[in-house]
Amino acid sequence: MIRDQLYEVEKRIQAACVRAERKREEVTLIAVSKTKPIEVLQEAYDLGVRVFGENKVQELTEKYDALPRDIHWHMIGHLQTNKVKYIIEKAELIHSVDSLRLAQTIEKEAAKRERTVDILVEVNIAEEESKFGVRAEEAIPFIEKLAHFPHIHVCGLMTIAPFVENPEENRPIFKNLHKLSVDIAHKNIDNVNVNILSMGMTNDYEVAIEEGATMVRVGTGIFGARDYTNRS
Ligand SMILES: *Cc1c(COP(=O)(O)O)cnc(C)c1O
Repeated sequence: MIRDQLYEVEKRIQAACVRAERKREEVTLIAVSKTKPIEVLQEAYDLGVRVFGENKVQELTEKYDALPRDIHWHMIGHLQTNKVKYIIEKAELIHSVDSLRLAQTIEKEAAKRERTVDILVEVNIAEEESKFGVRAEEAIPFIEKLAHFPHIHVCGLMTIAPFVENPEENRPIFKNLHKLSVDIAHKNIDNVNVNILSMGMTNDYEVAIEEGATMVRVGTGIFGARDYTNRS
């Protein structure tokens, strides 16, 4: 089941790369395993998956402890400051930094451990009220502030596009995030890179790749629908 879906996603990623004249290695597939049990992640692992995305701190740490050490864990969900300490050594990349307060906490926890933490700045390109993320106009001043944190390394941008019937509707959002990353790159801010563009989910990752995504976050497309009925 997972095998076929993974194969299908891989095939579509490759086709999108061909259309965009990009190399397959430029795009990292993050298998978004939130709500899925350990056995299911193990199955994906046995098929070769090494990059997993989770959106809850407790779930990420539990799975981290239960699964092999060569997995790369990505924190893709909204992060509360009081939980930073639990994932700082477990998540390889935090995709969802969108406030100075969160950045200050990451800086403090990273400094304590004498390490640098790689992060992405979440941008609310779609300007949806319900979404997290800084607004596009705020992104550059925000990143200029983050550049001063010695234990934080800005590696790029992330956005969550709305759910739409036709993925083409999200193309302008992906284009805008890409354009923003080019504007930031031109500023040559010390200690800041914008090489990573984390955009595209099951419904629209092919369009996102065509517009420059370097990380796509695919959950349902690999693992099937999520069941939230037993959750608090
Ligand atoms: C759940 C989630 C995804 C994956 O969504 P699918 O539509 O199942 O692919 C991607 N990114 C974030 C931030 C998520 O929370």
